[in-house]
This record gives sequence, structure tokens and C-alpha cells, in this order.
Amino acid sequence: MSRPRFWDPHGERFGLPTYPWRMAPDGLLTRRQLRTRGLRPGGQPVAAQILWRSRRSKGVRAAHLYRACLAKPVRPMTEARWTALAAAMRARHTCPLCGRDAGYVLPAHLGTCLPCADGLSAAA
Ligand SMILES: [Zn+2]
Repeated sequence: MSRPRFWDPHGERFGLPTYPWRMAPDGLLTRRQLRTRGLRPGGQPVAAQILWRSRRSKGVRAAHLYRACLAKPVRPMTEARWTALAAAMRARHTCPLCGRDAGYVLPAHLGTCLPCADGLSAAA
């Protein structure tokens, strides 16, 4: 029985553990597969590769594989981070004098909304 051409789990022929398309062992995932699980390689070296012959490019193509056990979660845009971002934007819109959302970024040189700035200059 002949082995598939790209079967080299110990990297003896290709210098890196190599599997044919769809035959990589569990726990070794491509960057894209990690991504669908909310993971990223996280700086780990390439653990293995998939090689396959591409009809379209008439050559051998490779995809690197990473160990799922060493992968790190991607930093998602969590609810807390969205909330913090929204709070920061709201702070830039909210007048410290009248407490209203001015609907625009407060001019830095005034530090208040325009009506308050007008009121201050009128009172001054
Ligand atoms: Zn104001």
C-alpha cells in the first residue's frame, strides 16, 4: 500500500511534519481554523504543514499548522471594550457644566458646549 505523497509526520522528507490535505491530526490547525475557534497562533512556531497539489496553480501549496493547545484567544472587541469606547466618546460630547450631550466633540479650547461657553462669556 503506497503512502500518500505528502505523508511525512516526522518531517523526514520535508523538514517539517507534513500531512496531506484533510489528514492533519486533531490538535493541529491552520491559522484560519484557529480563527474560527476564536484563537490565534500566539507567537508559537509552525508545528507542521499541509501540502497539497493545486490544480489551479499547477504547483504544490502549503498551509502552516499550529498547535491548538498553544494557541491564545484573540482579543475580541468585548462588551466591556465597546462600553469603554462609547464612554470615551460620550465624555468628549458631554458638557461638564450643563451635563448635556452636545452632539459634537466639545471644542478643546472651551471645554464646554457652545451655549455654556456663550453664557460664560456673556456673564463675564
Ligand atoms: Zn453646556
